[in-house]
Amino acid sequence: MTPEESKAVATRGFATHSEEGGFEPFEFTRRAVGANDILIEIEYAGICHSDIHQARNEWKDSMPTNYPLVPGHEIVGRVSQVGDAVTKFKVGDIAGIGCFIDSCRECVNCRNGHEQFCVKMAAYTYNGTEMDRVTKTYGGYSDKYVIDENYALKVKADGDLSGVAPLLCAGITTYSPLKRFKVGPGQKVGIVGLGGLGHMGVKIARAMGAEVTIFSTSPSKEADVRSLGADHFVVSSDPANLTPLAGTFNMILDTVSADHDVNQYLALLGVGGAMVVVGVPPSPNQIHALALIFGNKTLSGSLIGGIPETQEMLDFCAENGIRSEVEVIKPDYIETAYDRTIKADVRYRFVIDMKNA
Ligand SMILES: [Zn+2]
Ligand SMILES: [Zn+2]
Repeated sequence: MTPEESKAVATRGFATHSEEGGFEPFEFTRRAVGANDILIEIEYAGICHSDIHQARNEWKDSMPTNYPLVPGHEIVGRVSQVGDAVTKFKVGDIAGIGCFIDSCRECVNCRNGHEQFCVKMAAYTYNGTEMDRVTKTYGGYSDKYVIDENYALKVKADGDLSGVAPLLCAGITTYSPLKRFKVGPGQKVGIVGLGGLGHMGVKIARAMGAEVTIFSTSPSKEADVRSLGADHFVVSSDPANLTPLAGTFNMILDTVSADHDVNQYLALLGVGGAMVVVGVPPSPNQIHALALIFGNKTLSGSLIGGIPETQEMLDFCAENGIRSEVEVIKPDYIETAYDRTIKADVRYRFVIDMKNA
């Protein structure tokens, strides 16, 4: 054993070993804490829909799952050790980790702070490798993570951190497009779908000053409109509810990952309005060019955010008291939580308590 190997960090996680599922305790090591690294004692890990896709190998064509898999890219915890060259963090700080843990740092996208689009491909937090393309990555369903300080996020928070974890994926996924299309006071914003992503979109758009309308197929969720801070709730399964709203929105954020017709929402945009998709339905949509031409409308997509923007989002959420609505679970409930997430039976994000796991 080399001196470096002897300093490797023993880690306890929860892994699934096949697409048939079932999570079991899994022990592995993370690299020794290097000069630029911090060691995070993980407190909470959110359950993102992409964890489920990868645990069940549903992206086998584009991103096949390399078992054993320890998912989790909505991570928050406390720094327990820092390398000699670390400047951003000290022991005791709260730190977060999102969807990637490193990138090439040299390409145009990395230099512009859009590391999620690194031309050499970023190192994903789990089901990927470090930039050496050899060392396998394991995610946040575990008690520790070793990460370069430049890819960890600073979290200003006190008390219970469970509602902070989902900001690292669901939060930035919704913040980034709302920011890019300059959502603010006097604007009307529609959020399509009220799940893990949608409820964050509502809170963030409201904090930016917009008038927010939720479009949901679940009439039972109308009761949550006020607590989430939204202004209006529209049951979208009845097209008659949408007709009177034609041409009235500045921006619509579509978070739905089930098949649906985006044309009915494009029709709701006013002149110069923009619709951004962040959900991934299984089938392609058909869009008539005229739906965009009449009204100079924009249809766009958005993928999480880079490190600078993710930090900006965390600071914005801290200043505005924004956290995710969560249901905290123990690791033995992961499979059930997956099934309930697929059925949209959660308000609004499951978060695993790793502190007491
Ligand atoms: Zn995610
Ligand atoms: Zn790069």
